[in-house]
Amino acid sequence: MSIVSNSLKRIKPSPTIAVTTKAREMRAAGRDVIGLGAGEPDFDTPDNIKEAAIKAIKRGDTKYTAVDGTPDLKKAIQAKFLRENDLSYELDQITVGTGGKQVLYNAFMATINKGDEVIVPAPYWVSYPDMILLAGGKPKIVKCDEKDGFKITANKLKKAISKKTKWLILNSPSNPTGSAYTKEEIIELSKILIKNKKMYILSDDIYEHIIYNNFNFFTIAQIKALKDRTLTMNGVSKSYSMTGWRIGYAAGPKEIIKGISKVQSQSTSNPSSISQAAAVEALNGTQDFIKTRTDSFKQRRDFVVDSLNSIKGLSCLRPEGAFYVFPSCKKLLGKKTKIKTDKDFVEKLLERSEVAVVPGSAFGLDGYFRVSYATSMENLKKAMNRIKSFCENLN
Ligand code: PLP
Repeated sequence: MSIVSNSLKRIKPSPTIAVTTKAREMRAAGRDVIGLGAGEPDFDTPDNIKEAAIKAIKRGDTKYTAVDGTPDLKKAIQAKFLRENDLSYELDQITVGTGGKQVLYNAFMATINKGDEVIVPAPYWVSYPDMILLAGGKPKIVKCDEKDGFKITANKLKKAISKKTKWLILNSPSNPTGSAYTKEEIIELSKILIKNKKMYILSDDIYEHIIYNNFNFFTIAQIKALKDRTLTMNGVSKSYSMTGWRIGYAAGPKEIIKGISKVQSQSTSNPSSISQAAAVEALNGTQDFIKTRTDSFKQRRDFVVDSLNSIKGLSCLRPEGAFYVFPSCKKLLGKKTKIKTDKDFVEKLLERSEVAVVPGSAFGLDGYFRVSYATSMENLKKAMNRIKSFCENLN
């Protein structure tokens, strides 16, 4: 009998990490692979944030902190929600974890009973279904259409809700599509959610600041009737180029926040004291660089979308945010090209043209692939040329 637990058997390793590993192996073997699989900004953490961490070390902020975050960081998060989202929380409605990922994991561990359902709109961030499965829950995957910007509609939401529904996950802007929900779309969804009083909403706002053309970011906790049933997760990884520092946070109902901290108290305890001091500076310090960096992401988005749309057989929406696009390769699948699935497409693209992307099926929607444009323009230009000749040779 295997030592491995039944709950571990329910899950798979992250497919995005699998692609990155394969690309790294090919590079180590001397191949000139361009990686478009990254889930992190290519920019460095701003200097003022680094300095705050150095100061914290020198000051002796090197001990355990409160499990759910230092008072200074919780106050900075409280101020952020008020300043940017017009949301007011008490400090005991806020918790800090080792990345948004840990906060989400703890939230599911703290709230899901065996058989509870969680509505996950697809395409989804790869970790949601596996986290839900680990917690003993059932991911209820709802496939969203490209014509709806890959977003869940009120109609689809209504159909997906059952007596067992515990959570709905919303992720805007989205990984992997970059799509963001407008205020009007959120209001439409909220009409259904207000009626279903037993379910909760988990809003993953991690890409909040990477948004273009003055898109008016709106988060579902801003709907007054739903605030008491919404857990809003956010973090410093993407907005402040701080993926390695591992700081994420959430705000919401006290009972859930307490539950998240309880799980954390028996697993990792507090997130790094030094990273927390850096996150205080990220949230309270200058926000100027966000605009410069977002402008640069926007330029790359436009270049990538235009390039992909100029390739015969591919088509790509122009999303509102994040640093991903999710083009369709459906027209290139079939007998003529001898490529059956998006997974085959991605594997052949890597082998023949040395460009690493992630298949749509990894995110729960076949016939697409995810391109991350969090890399230099130079790399993007080379990669788009390679994808173009790869696709032309298939036709
Ligand atoms: N949510 C989404 C949609 C993400 O893409 C990521 C990271 O890739 C996270 C949450 C977690 O980010 P972190 O754990 O770095 O805060």
